[in-house]
Amino acid sequence: METVQRQFPNLPPRLVGLEEIASNLWWSWHPAARMLFKMLNRQAWKECGHNPVKLLKELPKETLAAAANDSDYLRHYDVVLSRFRKGIEQEEGLLPSRGADLNGEAIAYFSAEYGLHHSLPFFAGGLGFLAGDHLKECSDLGVPLVAVGFMYPEGYVRQRIREDGWQDSLDETLDRDAASISRVLKADGEQVVVKVPWVEPPIHVAVWQTAVGKVSLYLMDTDIELNDPWNRGISARLYIGDLEQRLRQEIVLGIGGTEVLDTLGIKHSALHLNEGHAAFALLERLRERIQRGMGYEEALHQVRSTSIFTTHTPVPAGHDVFPFYLMEKYFHSYWPSLGIDRDTFFRLGLHPKEPNAGFNMTAFALRVCGFRNGVSKKHGEVARQMWQCLWPDLPEKEVPIDHVTNGVHVPTWIEPKMELLFNKYLGPDWLDDHDNPFVWELIEEIPDEELWKIHYWMKIKLIDAIRDRSRMRWAQDRVSPSFALAGGALLDPSVLTLGFARRFATYKRADLILYDMQRLKKFLNDRWRPIQIIFAGKAHPADDPGKRILQRIFNAARDPEMGGRLAFAEDYDEQVAQYMVHGVDVWLNNPLPPMEASGTSGMKAALNGAPQLSIMDGWWLEGFSGKNGWVFGEGDVSGNRDQADAEAIYQILENEIIPLYYRVSENGIPHDWVRVMKDTIKSNAPRFSARRMVKEYIEKFYTPALKGA
Ligand SMILES: *Cc1c(COP(=O)(O)O)cnc(C)c1O
Repeated sequence: METVQRQFPNLPPRLVGLEEIASNLWWSWHPAARMLFKMLNRQAWKECGHNPVKLLKELPKETLAAAANDSDYLRHYDVVLSRFRKGIEQEEGLLPSRGADLNGEAIAYFSAEYGLHHSLPFFAGGLGFLAGDHLKECSDLGVPLVAVGFMYPEGYVRQRIREDGWQDSLDETLDRDAASISRVLKADGEQVVVKVPWVEPPIHVAVWQTAVGKVSLYLMDTDIELNDPWNRGISARLYIGDLEQRLRQEIVLGIGGTEVLDTLGIKHSALHLNEGHAAFALLERLRERIQRGMGYEEALHQVRSTSIFTTHTPVPAGHDVFPFYLMEKYFHSYWPSLGIDRDTFFRLGLHPKEPNAGFNMTAFALRVCGFRNGVSKKHGEVARQMWQCLWPDLPEKEVPIDHVTNGVHVPTWIEPKMELLFNKYLGPDWLDDHDNPFVWELIEEIPDEELWKIHYWMKIKLIDAIRDRSRMRWAQDRVSPSFALAGGALLDPSVLTLGFARRFATYKRADLILYDMQRLKKFLNDRWRPIQIIFAGKAHPADDPGKRILQRIFNAARDPEMGGRLAFAEDYDEQVAQYMVHGVDVWLNNPLPPMEASGTSGMKAALNGAPQLSIMDGWWLEGFSGKNGWVFGEGDVSGNRDQADAEAIYQILENEIIPLYYRVSENGIPHDWVRVMKDTIKSNAPRFSARRMVKEYIEKFYTPALKGA
């Protein structure tokens, strides 16, 4: 089976390789490849949303012909193309011995979302970016992994703030033919369409593929003519609220996804479930073995020893529970195929403390996967406590849920200028060995002036980008002046800048720093040593409490008493996230413990030199060294937790962060601050890299799971 080669009629023969590069997201984490597109036409590249497929479609023949005759461009092109081919064709990754350990067999990775690039909006938040970073790292390391997910053609919600500060949503439809995805085709040239087994009336999915370096991600799309409208809507958007449709979505993801791999002839010996949404894939693994004549218990044993489940959150809404009547409706003909009765089937998904609530996808995945993990050391503990009820005979410490702390894909999240700086001082091959802490000791070689200059340049870039958005709203939509100011028009790069960018789930307490407005105003309006805070983030469209928090922040940002030093950047997405994690001075993180299982945005900021001002939760419990940022909220807090935590933030700002930042040498360099930046990069970058994370998955789970196959 093949994927369709897209036709770009304007592309001259000398540059056909651009098509190859544009069709593989490899370009997204290789700055030289991105530059190849940007060089064609800077403005068009921006206007296409940095989507090379769209760019190549839309650029006029003359522009491309000119590039084909430009020796400078061609030199660049030839280098990138040969690197690309070498990188993709290379059988072994950077990890040949471990790669060999995996026996060349594939691991199937299932996730409901993938954050890969802003031109492919198949994500809601952190879970998706974690999955995207996982795939990219598996490609870099040569891990034989194949991924399955949804396309969500209507699912992308853009954020529009109204004049009154309330978040409105604008749905955006994906233009499938102008995205970095391709149809998977049969021999006769028609797109592969798969019927989801066991569901009547039938649901069909069309299969798409996107190449993430060496890893293939198969995307399912139910929006095809073969399906009735209800079925067409299954993959329309992420995490549908309606329970039955949500159940159907998860049936398609788990059962349909397995069928897609089977249809394409992709063998996989192990399964990795990124969160419980795809857990029905486990049923298909059971059924396949039982059909081959295996007994139920033996099949269960085999599936256990080859399946990995990663749980991502202690927040209750993050765990799907489907009422039994719905399960009955969709699975009454399924359990006989496993040779078990209704009760045995339902017991697989029973939560012992809430036996009547329904079929719990997390409980199910924990029971049927033999390898289980939380996403930080602390979250491992929290998960063991949460799920001890599934192992009532074991003490909490021995509950078989391990942890692998999350990490971020370094080539994706590092600012290209920082990468160049590291090339200069850590050695040109530092990226090949970036989970090695010794490599990072060379950060000490960077002169303070040089690191500070690049940081300052990144901060200007962030502020320019935010002002530009705000200017567009002002010019195009005729928003009020105060609206434009709240969007960040008065931001000043010389001011100490805190960043808070993440989803506006209430447990993240975005407005905590607004707890005592009088205190905050003093910080913002200090004549000599002011601070400014940039907020960005979306509330879930159904989350009114989250929207109220957002509104409160936005309206505060409009208040002249805040001096224009609070800003809310609209429409948080991967691109805004990039600017934020590159450019702020301090990354603020104050969720309600222990709700933040890990958090990853702070790791991205740390990689680029921004220290954390963070509560003791998630990854920061492992990340804090005493010298690389600031911490509060340790131990139990009695009484008003918000007040105590806000007070801690104010005190750290007043006594530590502000004086440190504004203590500059005669030539304007805050040497003590740069000291903290260096400690931040050194201690956090190697440990919280996706490289370290994927290697741990290989060691702890992938290798033994493939052995168990
Ligand atoms: C990294 C990232 C996230 C995850 O952030 P958390 O720290 O887990 O809140 C969410 N959205 C985007 C766009 C990101 O890049």
